[in-house]
Amino acid sequence: MWFADIILPLAVRGRFTYRIPDDFLEKIKPGVRVTVQFGGKNFYSGIVCNIHDKTPAVKNVKTIIDVLDAIPIINESQLKLWLWISEYYLCSEGEVMKAALPSETSLNSYKPRTETFIRLSEKYNDSDLNLILDRLVRAPKQQEVLSAYIRLTGYTEGAEIKPIRKSLLLKEAGSLQNIIEALTGKGILSSASLEVTRLTDSDSYNEPVRKLSEAQSLAYESVTNQLKEKDIVLLHGVTSSGKTEIYIHLIEEQLKIGKQVLYMLPEIALTTQIILRLKKHFGGVTGVYHSRFSDPEKVEIWKRVSNDDPLNGYRLILGVRSSLFLPFSNLGLIIVDEEHDGSYKQHDPAPRYHARDSAIMLAALHKAKTILGSASPSIESYNNAVNGKYGLTVLKERYGFIKLPAIIIANTREAYRKKLMVSHFTPELLQAMDEALGKDEQIILFQNRRGFSPYIECPECGWIPVCIQCAVNLTYHKGISKLVCHYCGYTTTMPSKCGNCHSTGMVTRGFGTEKIEDEIKIVFPAARVARMDQDTTKNKNSFNKIIRTFEERRIDILIGTQMISKGLDFENLTVVGVLNADNLLNYPDFRAHERSYQLMEQVSGRAGRRQKQGKVVIQTSDPANRIIRQVLRHDYESMFRIQAEERMTFNYPPFCRMVKISIKHKDRAQLNYYSDILGRDLKEIFGKRVLGPQSPVISQVQLWYIKTILIKIEREKPPAKAKQLIIEAIERLEKIKRASSLKIAIDVDPY
Ligand code: ADP
Ligand code: ZN
Ligand code: ZN
Repeated sequence: MWFADIILPLAVRGRFTYRIPDDFLEKIKPGVRVTVQFGGKNFYSGIVCNIHDKTPAVKNVKTIIDVLDAIPIINESQLKLWLWISEYYLCSEGEVMKAALPSETSLNSYKPRTETFIRLSEKYNDSDLNLILDRLVRAPKQQEVLSAYIRLTGYTEGAEIKPIRKSLLLKEAGSLQNIIEALTGKGILSSASLEVTRLTDSDSYNEPVRKLSEAQSLAYESVTNQLKEKDIVLLHGVTSSGKTEIYIHLIEEQLKIGKQVLYMLPEIALTTQIILRLKKHFGGVTGVYHSRFSDPEKVEIWKRVSNDDPLNGYRLILGVRSSLFLPFSNLGLIIVDEEHDGSYKQHDPAPRYHARDSAIMLAALHKAKTILGSASPSIESYNNAVNGKYGLTVLKERYGFIKLPAIIIANTREAYRKKLMVSHFTPELLQAMDEALGKDEQIILFQNRRGFSPYIECPECGWIPVCIQCAVNLTYHKGISKLVCHYCGYTTTMPSKCGNCHSTGMVTRGFGTEKIEDEIKIVFPAARVARMDQDTTKNKNSFNKIIRTFEERRIDILIGTQMISKGLDFENLTVVGVLNADNLLNYPDFRAHERSYQLMEQVSGRAGRRQKQGKVVIQTSDPANRIIRQVLRHDYESMFRIQAEERMTFNYPPFCRMVKISIKHKDRAQLNYYSDILGRDLKEIFGKRVLGPQSPVISQVQLWYIKTILIKIEREKPPAKAKQLIIEAIERLEKIKRASSLKIAIDVDPY
């Protein structure tokens, strides 16, 4: 008897064994989907991992009901990656499967999109087109349509004449359906239904790659040499040093030898510009992948990645973290750009994976190389480079010898005291903006909060409206005149009176991007202002629109959240303003200082990337702050040294590993009870290396109270043993919690 071990889309760890009926034996292979019954009357599609003849220990082994795919949809390295992610991040393979696969229905119902094409009938392939046209002299309308067809195909003498979309012929030639039919009736034209793409393929060319500068060539050679000895190289190049251009050269090498390349970015907004740069050189073999594609589109991308055909298959994929899960068969190189970026880590739901670290694993599975690129690398990666685990290539100058932007620190505390502030703007920022606008140059203003104001308050009694489901203040959104919870989406009308003392005149406190937009319009009434944040980019193409409009200089001032801080390359942008550095620096997290440095360095890096040096104004009430001084000097090394020393002293990553357990319950007393039990259990195993249980900064979300426990695991020992002990402690808790509805989430390497 034969059995198959199957991954089911469940949060339960482990694979499930089913018997293979004899008539399915031929069809069942690793990587195909099958239908099985699990727990009562539930039916699931699962993925077959392996086939064997070991009778499982359990009784009543169920039988596979149906086989859904004729050929495997998942290859061996994908299965290996899923397994690694589930073991490393302590989740089930089923949870990885759910994150990896396009939706079930789109896989089953997937039909290629087809369209009617018109072509010259084959028997006329070698005929003189003028002769055919002449023959239609008595049917001038038909003659007209035929010449329109020839013109639209872009036909040149001696070449083969191509089919074109019927819709194009109808539209462009103003021709009528019955005339086309007359021509097909005569056998001059014929129609056929052909497969077309759902993806909007923008124009693609095959321009030769650009010549590298001397500094770039040296960096390119250094990367290439280091990759001979090491699997991973960190490219630490200042903003606008031309890292992307170096990647393009490395990609070209890989494509030449028939390998696939995965180019990862942390944010969808960034794919807009880079995809155009890549398509210019690599044309149609270049694809993009992110969560904004529809499911049928995702399936088509999936198919094109697994397609070996050098013309239709994708050889180069630009994507965000989920692109790791595409069915690559032949990867030669993975580029993780902006490798320091926190968006590479998935928070919720499981798998809580880090896409940079998982990419390194994926590359290893393909015996491929990884390049991590950043202007401000993560402490983790830089530490690995300093230790010699990774190669390190440094690029210190900007392309074209343009100087890094000049940083001006504007002291908000002093400006308030001297009454020099105009709204939220310091004289330094206003002056820089004024000068730029005078020269028709563009400006970016960064504020890491969306909405109008982070909270509103009663000036009489201090009452602040909070979410009914979460322990957070509601954010005021002026455009829709509502209060919104940024954690659960709860929305309510703006109260006209205080909910406590009923006095009127609630006031707004603090400021988000929406308020900045309002006030900037008052200060610079002639300027064209736009905003880019989660609220203005809900539609699929909104990123492209804003970015293009800014590129075309139809926006003078662009206000935005971290979305505008990374990777974008605008020719005419000379001034960047950071409106409030304080709330970056004061965030209660051991990575807050590292992150603030990275964010400020990144957003500064948008200024002055072409002809001339840019200017950055950072507004802060704490100008002496060490991180601010380091940004002022663009002094990454000293930031790294000091952060690394502190983390070593207080035992934080990368000098230990961390696992965070979040426990949630709708009843606070029950939560305390059970989290204390787990805390004590873990302390017996790990002693002082257990922190908590403690309430996180946001202690309730969507009615669920939350407690967290942090466990620090020694770096030197392999983590599998410790992780196993953690799992066992959680299993013990799950046994005693019985009917109590407790949610437990494990986050390995929390970010
Ligand atoms: P980074 O990725 O390091 O921020 P980019 O690759 O975007 O830098 O380069 C910065 C700017 O310089 C871009 O506008 C890019 O087109 C230009 N550039 C970089 N390298 C070259 C080159 N070798 N030839 C021409 N232009 C270049
Ligand atoms: Zn809420
Ligand atoms: Zn009040």
